[in-house]
Amino acid sequence: MIAVQHPAPAAAAPAEQSQTMTQQPPPPWGYSKENGPDRWHETYPLAKGNNQSPIAILTKDVFKDPVLLPWFTGYDPGASKTIKNTGKTCRIAFDDTFDRSVLRGGPLQGIYRLRQLHIHWGSTDDKGSEHVVDATRYAGEIHVVHWYSKYSNYADAVRKPDGVVILAILLQIGKTPKPEMKRILEEIHNIKTKGKEAPFPNFDPSILFPKNRSYWTYQGSFTTPPCEECVTWILLKEPIIVSEDQMEMLRSLSSKSADEPHCPLADNWRPLQPLNNRMVRTPCQ
Ligand SMILES: [Zn+2]
Repeated sequence: MIAVQHPAPAAAAPAEQSQTMTQQPPPPWGYSKENGPDRWHETYPLAKGNNQSPIAILTKDVFKDPVLLPWFTGYDPGASKTIKNTGKTCRIAFDDTFDRSVLRGGPLQGIYRLRQLHIHWGSTDDKGSEHVVDATRYAGEIHVVHWYSKYSNYADAVRKPDGVVILAILLQIGKTPKPEMKRILEEIHNIKTKGKEAPFPNFDPSILFPKNRSYWTYQGSFTTPPCEECVTWILLKEPIIVSEDQMEMLRSLSSKSADEPHCPLADNWRPLQPLNNRMVRTPCQ
């Protein structure tokens, strides 16, 4: 028995209907047992690649590379556009139609444009980060996504091994939370359910950076499908402090839309992937 629910207009031509039947969209991925990380490769074969993220950082094995430089950002707060509950994360989008907000230096050859920022977090404070440092998993991880502006657009960049750089900031539970997180958390009540979006003007993500700019870097992938292996990771060594209450606010988001029962958005992190032959590097000082 075939039970296909057609949202298509009743007047659709037969040829179009048959195409709809044969070219079904990929099943939605997520973080549950049915559609979670262990099954992503069934629909997104790149997820089984040799250069996947996240990884475990073992600081004793990190190569001190004299070639690595400090990194710099020049962000225009006016590039910040919207904040959205995607059902899988909370995401801030930036205008990337020209080089108005950029990241350069560090392990990078050129100029990378800021595109979006999103967060991974746990259902409890003892998990939530994607990268693990010397067996420590943090409460969360912020990803600031940029693409190499020498490519014509973002879609083009994700097909190139040097197309994307993600600046990753670990979130550590503490008593004196970073006040700069407030700006994002204040907006949470406007995007409670999946698909909700609100204007988010005048935001400079560099306010979230820790004092110490030192980092680990390696070549990897996006941690969400299709898991393209186009990412230079810059993982900041110093975590920023968040409070238990702030983490609870993130968990108050729903992974379901407004017309569905509330389901806490949490544990949107991918488990560790094999390092294989990759090297993790850090600047000498
Ligand atoms: Zn991410």
